[in-house]
Amino acid sequence: DHLPAGALDLEFKGVNFSYNEDKPVLKDINFTVKPGERLGIIGRTGSGKSSLSRALLRLYNIDSGVIRVGGTDITKLKLPALYRRVGMVTQDVQLFDGSLRDNLTLFDSCVSDEFVLETTERLGLRQWIDAQPEGLDTHLSTGGASLSAGEAQLFALTRVFLTQPSLVILDEPSSRLDAATETMLQVAVDQLMSRCTGIIIAHRLATLEQVDKIMVLGDGRILEFGAREEL
Ligand code: ATP
Ligand code: MG
Repeated sequence: DHLPAGALDLEFKGVNFSYNEDKPVLKDINFTVKPGERLGIIGRTGSGKSSLSRALLRLYNIDSGVIRVGGTDITKLKLPALYRRVGMVTQDVQLFDGSLRDNLTLFDSCVSDEFVLETTERLGLRQWIDAQPEGLDTHLSTGGASLSAGEAQLFALTRVFLTQPSLVILDEPSSRLDAATETMLQVAVDQLMSRCTGIIIAHRLATLEQVDKIMVLGDGRILEFGAREEL
């Protein structure tokens, strides 16, 4: 009932999903990702990319088929066991009322300040933290008014990598960053992802330089799947 540490494989088998019964959003999705591999997903707006990641995190139940992580059907796992190993960075970040430290570590007291600072350094958030009046003890309030959109994304990335996940999903990770920050971030994400399996969702192929395989989604179906060079 728990997933092992380290990179894990992922399998979607005959997955169908809809938010409302009358409108299928994912249609017969079949694919596998090997441990440590990186899959890029592209497709037009509304093609089902975010829905695929929500199904993987069990934010919704699928209608039929099976999703396996590390060989285990995710419906057989308790949610905390799933979330301990699978992390997602979405298009927006939720902050809660509490210290900067707690917001980053999500109250996991096993995460040392040293590791927090090292990770923020790599992801380019360290300067922002050092500029806060009380560093990691600085109080943040819900809504995150003190973060720019780009900083909020770096924040979300840091939070996920601090959990040392086995599988990471980045949904449009760099959509709000300037070019220089995006480049720096790509290098950092590349390093941090070397220890896990990754799914990177993007609108354009150009932003997926560091993936092994690419899936093209269209209207809830897999249109193409293969090595980056083949597409
Ligand atoms: P984008 O590139 O704009 O992020 P996407 O590929 O991530 O698009 P999804 O968000 O997965 O697309 O949406 C796929 C379909 O599901 C769309 O038709 C969308 O309207 C629908 N949809 C998404 N979220 C919900 C929801 N919470 N309830 C009902 N329908 C939804
Ligand atoms: Mg989306």
